[in-house]
Amino acid sequence: MDTHADRPDRIRKVAADWRIPPNLRDYAVACSAFSWEAVSDRLASGRDVNIARLAIDRHVEGGAGARIAFRFLSATGECRDLSYADLARLTDRFAHVLASLGIAKGERLFVLCGRIPELYIAVLGGLKYGAVVSPLFSAFGPEPIATRIAIGAGRVLVTTDALYRRKVESVRAQLPTLEHVLLVGTDDESTTPPGTDDFSTLLAAAPEAPFVGSTAVDDMALLHFTSGTTGKPKGAVHVHGAVATHYATGQYALDLHPEDIFWCTADPGWVTGTSYGIIAPLLHGVTSVVDAAEFDAERWYAILEAQRVSVWYTAPTAIRMLMKAGPELARQHRYPALRFIASVGEPLNPEAVWWGQDVLGLPIHDNWWQTETGGIMIANFAGLDIKPGSMGLPLPGVEAAIVQRGEGDESLRVLDAAAAQGELALKAGWPSMFRGYLGEDERYHRCFRDGYYLTGDLARRDADGYYWFIGRADDVIKSAGHLIGPFEVESALMEHPAVAEAGVIGKPDPVVGETVKAFVSLRKGFEPSAALKLALLGHARKRLGAAVAPKEIAFLPALPRTRSGKIMRRLLKARELGLPEGDLSTLESGA
Ligand code: ATP
Ligand code: MG
Repeated sequence: MDTHADRPDRIRKVAADWRIPPNLRDYAVACSAFSWEAVSDRLASGRDVNIARLAIDRHVEGGAGARIAFRFLSATGECRDLSYADLARLTDRFAHVLASLGIAKGERLFVLCGRIPELYIAVLGGLKYGAVVSPLFSAFGPEPIATRIAIGAGRVLVTTDALYRRKVESVRAQLPTLEHVLLVGTDDESTTPPGTDDFSTLLAAAPEAPFVGSTAVDDMALLHFTSGTTGKPKGAVHVHGAVATHYATGQYALDLHPEDIFWCTADPGWVTGTSYGIIAPLLHGVTSVVDAAEFDAERWYAILEAQRVSVWYTAPTAIRMLMKAGPELARQHRYPALRFIASVGEPLNPEAVWWGQDVLGLPIHDNWWQTETGGIMIANFAGLDIKPGSMGLPLPGVEAAIVQRGEGDESLRVLDAAAAQGELALKAGWPSMFRGYLGEDERYHRCFRDGYYLTGDLARRDADGYYWFIGRADDVIKSAGHLIGPFEVESALMEHPAVAEAGVIGKPDPVVGETVKAFVSLRKGFEPSAALKLALLGHARKRLGAAVAPKEIAFLPALPRTRSGKIMRRLLKARELGLPEGDLSTLESGA
């Protein structure tokens, strides 16, 4: 069996392999030369700090208006391009629409659409206007939609005619703040349901003139709800100044160069799909591919090839699904333009990093961040060695630390040793740091201690400064005096050729505290059996030792996950123990 256990623990980067010199080549030099002020000055150079203006109008003013900003691929195969100049014009118009509706700066605009051009126009036009924008995932049901609009006191909603009728009409009466609903895709103005307006009619009637407005660094810009992996989703508030992080991380962590064709597969309903599906690529003047359809292995390989994608940002869940579909499918296409692949959202198993190398000819670069951090904080860089299984190194300008909270009091111990293990914390103050959980001040303040933001994730730092994810503080298993991170156990199981996905939980046990139980879904061509269960238990014991290996394994056709693609271990646990399932608003249907 060819597993990463037999492979080197580093993927070395050598200059001879680079098609384009990476933006970050010498980590120490990049860090010492870095300052957030310099990034903000270079980006804004005297202009107002407004995410949309810096992302769009700056290029038009610089003469690059004809460049394609977005290439939209519809589910049925049509393709529509919007240039930077088109986008500047359409977002100006939408800002005028908001003005004509009497929306005040700072009021909330919700956008509930599939990945269609109007979503991008509304989000960016809303930012340009100075409204606070909250993109919602279009597969949410009526209740999650209503809850989020209510938390955000939404005043305007842009959605489609079909989504409105299916999901919003029934809850509209619960939303007294929601005055304006603009619908995309109505046949004509006369058919819009009562209490709604037609998006395209309003856009067409808006003045054809630049919108004049102004926003400042600390003005609230975006409201993003967390994935709900560990509980009820929280509404994280972000400001226009976050744009400096979007820019610096696009440069360093995604290695964007002006000629790139970039594909971020995340939906803008999650922070990744906004920070990196909309803002960062525009700031770098690149062309982004936007696919309206859902995941499909064959379709995705075809897009990578046909659109000549050069930088691809995706998620472990998608990579695992591609792995599940088998390497033959990947090899039916060629990817000569592809030069950099990154992933975020969950731990990326070493097997997945190597799969990229073996099947696509490029390793996958894991990076770590959260809705709260607004942008990438720890990353594997194009120009630096990868240690498969590690999240990489902190971005220049980001100070990460491993800390221990004191029992019960406010104290915090920062573990200074080169190699340390504990809670991952970030020195507060990077530009895209969230500025609040809407309506939950107390909870927000509890995230900070001694000048650090406490992430709630446990990690280890090695002697080279690379960070390794252990697990969410809530998911870590305590068994017979050992602290067991589910990721380590899941990664070991994934080395077995039968395993497509694994989710690991702790089960209360009167003797050892908790025992490890693994839930596993199988790759194509494998069937659940008692013999396979024994083989997996044996494999895990050999790799991890008896103290850490699972005591029990159960097969599931698929693991429950959030709509943003994260395994919901809390749900596996609740179901196993017969406990209440908690908030399921972000659970992928059918799971
Ligand atoms: P909630 O906070 O509502 O429970 P969530 O934490 O899943 O949901 P997000 O902000 O979307 O919501 O996800 C951030 C979390 O995802 C991180 O705290 C971490 O646990 C996990 N994560 C993201 N990227 C990585 C990565 N590269 N490796 C390991 N874990 C990651
Ligand atoms: Mg979280």
